[in-house]
Amino acid sequence: MATVAGTGLDAAAVEALRAAVRGALLRPGDADYDAARRVWNGMIDRRPALIARCAGAADVIKGVAFAREHGLLVAVRGGGHNVTGNAVCDDGLMLDLSPMKGIRVDPARLTVRAEAGVTWGELDRETQAFGLATTGGQVSTTGIAGLTLGGGIGWLMRKYGLAIDNLLSADVVTADGRLLTASADENPDLFWGIRGGGGNFGVVTSFEYRLHRVGPMITGGMALYPAARAAELLRFFRALTADAPEDLNVVLAFLTAPPAPFVPPELVGTPLVGFALGHLGTPEEGQVAIERIRAFGAPAIDLLGPMPYTALQSMTDGALPFGLRVYLKSSHLTGLDDALIDTVVRQMQAVTSPLSQVVIVPLGGAVARVADDATAFGRRDTPYDIVVFSVWTEPGEDERHMRWGRDFGEAVRPFARGVYVNEMGVEGEERVREAYTPATYQRLAALKRTYDPDNLFRLNQNIAPAG
Ligand SMILES: Cc1cc2nc3c(=O)[nH]c(=O)nc-3n(C[C@H](O)[C@H](O)[C@H](O)COP(=O)(O)OP(=O)(O)OC[C@H]3O[C@@H](n4cnc5c(N)ncnc54)[C@H](O)[C@@H]3O)c2cc1C
Repeated sequence: MATVAGTGLDAAAVEALRAAVRGALLRPGDADYDAARRVWNGMIDRRPALIARCAGAADVIKGVAFAREHGLLVAVRGGGHNVTGNAVCDDGLMLDLSPMKGIRVDPARLTVRAEAGVTWGELDRETQAFGLATTGGQVSTTGIAGLTLGGGIGWLMRKYGLAIDNLLSADVVTADGRLLTASADENPDLFWGIRGGGGNFGVVTSFEYRLHRVGPMITGGMALYPAARAAELLRFFRALTADAPEDLNVVLAFLTAPPAPFVPPELVGTPLVGFALGHLGTPEEGQVAIERIRAFGAPAIDLLGPMPYTALQSMTDGALPFGLRVYLKSSHLTGLDDALIDTVVRQMQAVTSPLSQVVIVPLGGAVARVADDATAFGRRDTPYDIVVFSVWTEPGEDERHMRWGRDFGEAVRPFARGVYVNEMGVEGEERVREAYTPATYQRLAALKRTYDPDNLFRLNQNIAPAG
């Protein structure tokens, strides 16, 4: 049998797959191969045997069948943002869905259907043409696919719920190669599982979401203060978020001032702490929210005011571009008590890289109103989420910056319960269990046995099939 160099794969079978798919099938050495295997986290450098740049559901079905028949590891890429790099594998078959960009808005029914290669920036562009939006990620280059399948937190969530709470249906290619529609009426068990269970149950080829009237102008922006006021500001944040209206989504961020046009030269390189926010109410209500923030004191950098919703959705893009080296630690917090605040401030003071950031995100509102067993999202009652992004550029510095992130994660552990599955690193099965309530995990494992008993889709935050 003739094989494809470096892969051991039957050359005739690979040629048959190439002829069968509509998109390109790339091998090591092909012109676009290196670009196609790149993902957001610059730490990841994996070399799949084959990359299928899927043009549609038919290519996905063919790719899944090929992987199954040849015993290949499968990686599924949407936006490529997941910090683990699970969107790409060594040796196996990478199903790259990023060419699948179809989007159709139905302004009368207030819905949108989008293919799995779409990013949030692309979806917002189409829906905002009609003054509509659905809850999506806070960085516009993130994929709708991975983000939705894990839950999907964003600026609209306290008013309209998570991304999964707005998901109406999805088309899913399962491990046995069938294309199933998952919705409240069709395959409802699968629909439950893909709303929080990640990529465990199949490859989603398109998503249909409910839309809401949002923007095009909202109130939002950032207010930043010297980090010397961090503990004080965290207590203010705790009070602000305790009774915030659901129109207000405000996150707290620690960062080092970048050399950006909005930063006065004397502040560049100094540690800052502050708020990033979006308010969905009337301009007058938005102004009230701004004044409440400014009551803490005049910000060193004040970027609050009216802005397009699409600008809010891409406001932090520049801080986390493709290709940087990233180690991420995240947890759901049980609250923001004083001991936690002191811990966060202390850990932040030990930061090792000016590119690193820490973000605290309040959930609540519409997120908490959905019953725990209605979807597979873990722990709806979580009041806050903390995300520690350790970020740097030099490969020789990995150990130092990873240690800072790891120590931060350990330090907040006594104040944490569980984790958002989309914000996990490569942390093992026990940690995946912690992302869910015990009842949800059990149900997910049983569903995995039904839809993927051989664990074909295992390059993810994996749920082993029950039994
Ligand atoms: C800079 C940055 C900002 C972020 N902001 C937010 C945020 O605001 N809100 C939030 O909730 N999360 C956020 N996240 C986390 C984000 O939700 C996850 O990283 C998510 O996995 C990204 O989805 P993706 O499609 O871009 O990633 P990919 O890396 O392409 O996919 C991640 C995984 O999802 C699965 N998957 C992807 N596509 C499919 C598919 N079509 N079918 C089946 N499985 C699939 C696969 O297991 C894959 O390994 C952010 C992450 C980063 C790095």
